[in-house]
Amino acid sequence: IGASIAGLGEMYGKVQSTLGASERILEILDETPEPTHLEPSVGLVPASIQGDIRYEHVVFNYPTRPDVPVLQDINFSIAAGEKIALVGPSGAGKSTIAGLLMQFYPLSGGHIRIDGHEVADYDLTALRRHIGIVPQETLLFGGTIRENIAYGRPDATDAEIVEAAERANAWRFIQGFPEGLDTLVGDRGIKLSGGQRQRVAIARAILKNPAILILDEATSSLDSESEQLVQSAMDELMQNRTSIIIAHRLSTIRKVDKILVIDGGRIVEQGTHDELSEREGGLYANLLRLQFELT
Ligand code: ATP
Repeated sequence: IGASIAGLGEMYGKVQSTLGASERILEILDETPEPTHLEPSVGLVPASIQGDIRYEHVVFNYPTRPDVPVLQDINFSIAAGEKIALVGPSGAGKSTIAGLLMQFYPLSGGHIRIDGHEVADYDLTALRRHIGIVPQETLLFGGTIRENIAYGRPDATDAEIVEAAERANAWRFIQGFPEGLDTLVGDRGIKLSGGQRQRVAIARAILKNPAILILDEATSSLDSESEQLVQSAMDELMQNRTSIIIAHRLSTIRKVDKILVIDGGRIVEQGTHDELSEREGGLYANLLRLQFELT
């Protein structure tokens, strides 16, 4: 069973037992406490980053299964502001590739560099401040919509929160609630639809304003209106940010600068949608037929 990005964070084993699922995910989204297996870091604390990413001969196995190689010799680079899509069968290693950028685990071999510096050389909290995650399924915590959007930027003003909500196509439905930003969501509040929750998560990421984004695209489809609102909010969020998308939608894949096809922990093909779809007998061409023809 492949782990989702959100799931990856659960595995480094800290504070799990005392927190509910939504807090666990939020913890990963932002200001994640240092994992216990790493030294408290005193690394680089950049005020801003460009978002230039380079994976060099990355080898990885999970500490719990040292005999099972999960990633083998992963090499790719993304220039600042570029977008790449990771595609491939379940369990191929897509979430793991993305998660390693945030240092969920140390590498077994090779290097991952952001702006030329090893990821491991950054202060972990500082590093994660520059990386935003939009998970497949957004769980909001119990509290107001304002708190949910401002999570990670508690100092944000209402004007900034409203602007982020507008850019995320969330403001219209928020405004529709009598309490607006003060509307309670979560267990004791109102239940937002999947698409609304995603747009709140996108507003949160827009407000955080990271140079790098990891997007784990939802596999289940929303109704088509919601789908379009989420899609255009995602496009807005990705503008001018280096983005790694674990992609399931043809519409997304067509737009990215480069597609990495992952299988068995290796990059088996890379190129643009047009290049790969014309490769007779290629894995991407096959995936296209299997997965996307129907949608
Ligand atoms: P999916 O599309 O299903 O999310 P994926 O391509 O993202 O899959 P990963 O979740 O990265 O794949 O998993 C890659 C491999 O690593 C799989 O064989 C998976 O079982 C294994 N794996 C994932 N998380 C762990 C873990 N915490 N401990 C041990 N093995 C793991």
